[in-house]
Amino acid sequence: MNAQKSELYMMRMAEAIRLCRIRLDALLFPRGACCLCCGDPRRASEADCLCDACREKLKTWRLPAQACGRCLSPVERGKPCAFCNSPLMKPIEAVFSPYRFGGETRQLILALKFNACGEAAPLLAQAMADALTRREFDCVTPVPLHARRLRQRGFNQALLLSGELGKRTGLPVEELLARVRYKRPQSRTPMKRRASNVSGAFSCVGDAKGKRVLLVDDVRTSGSTAHACAKALLNAGAESVCLCTAAVVYRKQGSSRASA
Ligand SMILES: [Zn+2]
Ligand SMILES: [Zn+2]
Repeated sequence: MNAQKSELYMMRMAEAIRLCRIRLDALLFPRGACCLCCGDPRRASEADCLCDACREKLKTWRLPAQACGRCLSPVERGKPCAFCNSPLMKPIEAVFSPYRFGGETRQLILALKFNACGEAAPLLAQAMADALTRREFDCVTPVPLHARRLRQRGFNQALLLSGELGKRTGLPVEELLARVRYKRPQSRTPMKRRASNVSGAFSCVGDAKGKRVLLVDDVRTSGSTAHACAKALLNAGAESVCLCTAAVVYRKQGSSRASA
């Protein structure tokens, strides 16, 4: 095993141990006893699921004010936004998200994905609701998982977020989309193949006609998943599609480091 591989292995082990700890605590203490980000005992009120230090650190992951107002990508002052002009943003009217992906937001999203504790979805959905500068939508629609993946995981994290967001906005949750083709997870697909990996993977199975849809996912990485979902919704007659995620990968889209 080379050094890079063993470092990755150690990181994954540490992550797995942290998630197990949070899960165990959630079992022992139904109201929660440890911080969802670092696993340390909470020093804040019992109602809060983060320790004081992580709550402070989480603030540093807020999207900066200079992000593009439509797609939330970095833009150079005075220059047009490259991502807004790319085909990936064409079917999407606007993107709403409270955070950049990384550090504490990454820890929270992992806690949500592995359902380590039921507290991650309400916490993230509250921040998402606060980031919604528009409320003129007809429904909230989660990015679906393929049935096979849903069986493996047991739940769809985007549906958990949609439910919590629906409660906070008063919007109905409608599962308008289905994932019709099982492809390899986007997280394990190289960036340049992500668009083709999800192209045609979604189909509209509900009544989207004339609806202003708020599409919900945990993270936007390349934007390929949201693009494929938005296209399916618009093809089925949706009036418009906006995207709301708990976090966005904040870097110039199309850069080499870029890896849903
Ligand atoms: Zn913490
Ligand atoms: Zn933009």
